[in-house]
Amino acid sequence: MSQQLEIDAYRFVRESRLLEGFLDLSELPRLHDLVTKVLGKVEYRLQGVLGERGQPRLRLEVSGVLPLVCQRCLGAVDEALAIDCLLELIAADSEPTQDELENDSLDFLPVAGALDVKALIEDEILLALPVAPRHAACGLPVDADAGEQLHPFAALAALKTKLN
Ligand SMILES: [Zn+2]
Repeated sequence: MSQQLEIDAYRFVRESRLLEGFLDLSELPRLHDLVTKVLGKVEYRLQGVLGERGQPRLRLEVSGVLPLVCQRCLGAVDEALAIDCLLELIAADSEPTQDELENDSLDFLPVAGALDVKALIEDEILLALPVAPRHAACGLPVDADAGEQLHPFAALAALKTKLN
């Protein structure tokens, strides 16, 4: 069942609200190309908190296991998510200052008011995933410095070359 997850971000923080639940992988379309099958769910917990000077912040935690596509053998490689991030809400048209950008302990989220929580969760998952997921050992020959060749079609291309 698809659910709409929209909050008024500033009010959510002001009221110290908490939103938690599960999201089906089928509801996170931007992840579909990255997994071997669209099956399973992630658990999330979103909390409105105030910074030490009253800055409006959201703490987002996401956990779950995604069957990512191994970039070497194209099989499933399970990636355990353990996201725990702090996002400071800033006006939709403002840019974080240099000081803010250098603060590693939190990120900035430009938002006018309404916030699509599902899209936010999707964003944070995409940021947390490895660029080139792969098994520690696939059983396929390992290219010593495969850095750039690890894209989804590398294995296919290799196969094609063999067939020609
Ligand atoms: Zn593999």
